[in-house]
Amino acid sequence: MSTGFKTLDDLDLKGKNVLLRADLNVPVANGKVTDATRIERIVPTIREIIKVDGKAILLSHFGRPKGKVDPQYSLEAVVPAVADETGHPAGFIATDWADVSEAKRAIDSAPPGSVLVLENTRFHPGEEANDPELAKRMASLGDIYVNDAFSAAHRAHASTEAIARLLPAAAGRAMQAELNALEKGLGNPRRPVIALVGGAKVSTKIGLLENLITKVEALVIGGAMANTFLHAMGMSVGKSLAEKDLADLANTILEKANAARCAIILPIDATVAWHFEANAPHRYYGLDAMDPEGMILDVGPGSIERIKGAIDEAGTLVWNGPLGAFELPPFDHATNEIARHVAARTKAGKLVSVAGGGDTVAALTHAGVKNSFTYVSTAGGAFLEWMEGKPLPGVEALEQG
Ligand code: ADP
Ligand code: MG
Repeated sequence: MSTGFKTLDDLDLKGKNVLLRADLNVPVANGKVTDATRIERIVPTIREIIKVDGKAILLSHFGRPKGKVDPQYSLEAVVPAVADETGHPAGFIATDWADVSEAKRAIDSAPPGSVLVLENTRFHPGEEANDPELAKRMASLGDIYVNDAFSAAHRAHASTEAIARLLPAAAGRAMQAELNALEKGLGNPRRPVIALVGGAKVSTKIGLLENLITKVEALVIGGAMANTFLHAMGMSVGKSLAEKDLADLANTILEKANAARCAIILPIDATVAWHFEANAPHRYYGLDAMDPEGMILDVGPGSIERIKGAIDEAGTLVWNGPLGAFELPPFDHATNEIARHVAARTKAGKLVSVAGGGDTVAALTHAGVKNSFTYVSTAGGAFLEWMEGKPLPGVEALEQG
């Protein structure tokens, strides 16, 4: 990924109508926002706009209204949370996106320094179709476009892609921080780089594994995903979760890694239980002596030491996927131990650490180290596509011109 994107420093925001693509797709229950993390992240950008008498006009999708006006998915519900987080009154602007003349009048009559939230962009089918006509109507509402929604950047939609080509465009502060962190992770990293990949299934992470083996010096495979590899290598994994039909694919990945000189680090021992539940009785097994009735729910103590040793050799670590069934203690043990080790190495200035993924963020929070990594991305799909090495249309659109 190149770092040739513009930032707020490249634009004159003074008195401008700034269309700010945010991710306001936040959880709402009984009409109230229950987690405002995504709103919190865009506050610095909003403040910079309104400080110089610009209007911050927020654009976002919300849920899946399927291209139709559906009051159930109105962004009006998040306006109070936007006001709370920014410490500034916020207004709402209704529109069906077919005709934006009313919205335009409302924006023009709002005083300088206003914070305004436009209606759900997905109320019009042109949003997900990346329709240039809809993008034109959106662009007619502002002078400048700023994208602060990395989590929506893997989608080429009218409000993330087409519009960026119609107005002076830049990354907001949250997007800028995310892109800079990712650049440190795989773009232009301190070497050697080690990747940790875990989670349940190889089938959901094929693209990610194939990209990583070309980019990193060492790849640790943990979680149930490791079972698929161990089985492919001819080892018994008992009753563990494993995708036995993917043996050929697993072996191909191992061969490609070898050709790319990427060291593959698989578990050497396992924490085995006989029931998939919290606090199930468990024992440690070497992988040469697995109980055919047992289930591998975590990597074992020898593997933990081996992984820590490999991390100590690395300058950068990228991580997606827990190493065990972390929701069920004590099978969170390896994930906790490794997460704390990464946090300590990061704190000591020895390691740049970047992690992301829905369950990975939950696991790092559970281990108490979410804020001790160099960067933890909460972007979900966009983060995974970045790890797969795919171009992100919303970011590419900021790199033009
Ligand atoms: P992310 O959401 O961060 O991308 P994944 O969804 O790929 O991560 O993987 C997380 C899931 O993998 C968790 O629900 C975890 O319980 C499961 N998992 C990890 N190791 C094992 C294992 N050995 N057996 C069963 N499930 C596992
Ligand atoms: Mg997941």
